[in-house]
Amino acid sequence: PQDLLNAATQGLQIRDFNAGYPKRHVIRHLNVPMLPRGKITVLLGPNGSGKSTLLRSLAGLNRAEGQLFLDGHDLMPMPFARRAEQVVYLPQTLPAGVHLHVLESIIVAQRASGGKGKVSEGTDKVMTLLRQLGIEHLALSYLDQLSGGQKQLVGLAQSLIRQPSLLLLDEPLSALDLNYQFHVMDLVRKETQKRNIVTVVVVHDINIALRHGDRVLMLKDGNLIADGEPEDVITADSLARVYGVRGRIERCSQGTPQILIDGLVGDPEI
Ligand code: ADP
Repeated sequence: PQDLLNAATQGLQIRDFNAGYPKRHVIRHLNVPMLPRGKITVLLGPNGSGKSTLLRSLAGLNRAEGQLFLDGHDLMPMPFARRAEQVVYLPQTLPAGVHLHVLESIIVAQRASGGKGKVSEGTDKVMTLLRQLGIEHLALSYLDQLSGGQKQLVGLAQSLIRQPSLLLLDEPLSALDLNYQFHVMDLVRKETQKRNIVTVVVVHDINIALRHGDRVLMLKDGNLIADGEPEDVITADSLARVYGVRGRIERCSQGTPQILIDGLVGDPEI
């Protein structure tokens, strides 16, 4: 029974969660029964629907109230530093003007979250991660000399090295080419499973959500309007209601579902 109880509480539960800014409520009364460990949850929604606000609030970076149980322990009353040991948020863009090279920046991230051990061991780990991300050759390049896509990969390395329990990625694919989008989502999946992380990713591409998500949450105007398996949530009906587009599902050669967009709701059908 203890195992069953543990299994039932392993993950993130969000209860009556409200978040926003002074004079501006964005997320209202959000309840999510359980985002399990070892799975990728994709957060979808149009611009301004509250995705970044939600991720930042889960990380303790925005004002919020409610309850956030991670493995049964509420994160909300914890001091920020304690929450940050477990929760890592990767913003859309890395802060500019940091004069560190890639390797240093990742070791700093690791140390900042309590990473211990010899620096040489830390360096080995970082180099392995950089190799997996295909950016080993950039280890000694300065952050401000990297392209947008390269910075996103470095940001991902900085996040993964901190070994979070809850990993919040805000559009980590936006500057990556198609090949890298697949590559990065595969790596995020492997790390999520291997380290048993609760991973929440914001993406814009609905097909990435369909292909790589275990679960999809759809937000509109700060409200959760759908939560479930990707193919149950991403339907012609929800695309019309949430995005105002007419879409239909087709299957790729290996049977993977894919959305094709025919036009906007209200356009004449051909
Ligand atoms: P998304 O990530 O889905 O595009 P956001 O979470 O960025 O949406 O924004 C949700 C709403 O919160 C928007 O209406 C936006 O204008 C508002 N908002 C975002 N940041 C701030 C801020 N710093 N102060 C006040 N309102 C904000």
